[in-house]
Amino acid sequence: MSTRRKVLAGNGRSDWYRRMNTTSPATDDALTLRFWGVRGSTPVSGPEYVEFGGNTPCLEIRCGGRLFVLDAGSGLGAFGRNNADGLPQEIDLLFSHLHLDHTAGLPFFKPAVFDETRTIHTYCGNLDGACAAEALGRLFSPPLFPVELDVLPVTIRHHGFKAGEPLTFPDGTRVDTILLNHPQGSVGYRFDHGGKRLCVISDIEHTDPWPDPALLAFVEGADLIVYDGMFTEGEYCRCAGWGHSTWQKGIELAQAARAKALAIIHLHPAHTDAQLRKVEADMQAVMPSSFIARERQAVDVGAAAVPSRPQLALALTA
Ligand SMILES: [Zn+2]
Ligand SMILES: [Zn+2]
Repeated sequence: MSTRRKVLAGNGRSDWYRRMNTTSPATDDALTLRFWGVRGSTPVSGPEYVEFGGNTPCLEIRCGGRLFVLDAGSGLGAFGRNNADGLPQEIDLLFSHLHLDHTAGLPFFKPAVFDETRTIHTYCGNLDGACAAEALGRLFSPPLFPVELDVLPVTIRHHGFKAGEPLTFPDGTRVDTILLNHPQGSVGYRFDHGGKRLCVISDIEHTDPWPDPALLAFVEGADLIVYDGMFTEGEYCRCAGWGHSTWQKGIELAQAARAKALAIIHLHPAHTDAQLRKVEADMQAVMPSSFIARERQAVDVGAAAVPSRPQLALALTA
């Protein structure tokens, strides 16, 4: 279903880590990712959030020269400001789902929404085929928000699909999807490009048994899995049913799938830089090629070394 709307209006890290975070020149085969927001639930700011950042989810994904924007959290504003001269005329915005922390940045995507020559295509897959038009129309309207999306100059075209269906774009690019366990559902995305595989799996709450077989098959052999690790195992027992997971479950999934690397996002708004550095050290003791994503961090997917021997036993820490 599709509707067209004219809208008027670093810390002693390993060699692996340094290699992974060196931005290489873009080539047609390159699959790259930059995190513009990695915080979950609500933006945060303050001196305790300087290293990992406070913006909510927004990922810039480039398959060669082709751009995808995944989620429109508060990080979308910074993405726009830093890419004002390089945005394509047609921008594909993939939503994991429409909760506020993944949508609230949309009106602040200024280089795009104030340009009447541009089109933003939104893709929503967690509403049983419905597109995002109605929900976003409710969100961005008085008295909740002073400006309706329809009064912005950009054209917004909304596309609905059912998670699990592949997305095929006019240039032939294909992106695979999967429904994730989250209140009102969420969509995981898989990008295959240049022989490399990137899977973004957020927001999700792990299930029992774990890993879920369908999800395991979806992420099999990924060069990088980006995963919702909002809680530690110790915190999770008090937050079961909230729709989020733990870094330990992310490592279980990554190792079972023989993924080469794991990045944790959707960071808890109360977790400070000091706490997250400690968590990252605990993670890397179990899976050296895992890390907690930092806002504005760039990743050359596939640049990571394969773990020499997948570790199947986990040291679960509180
Ligand atoms: Zn979220
Ligand atoms: Zn959510």
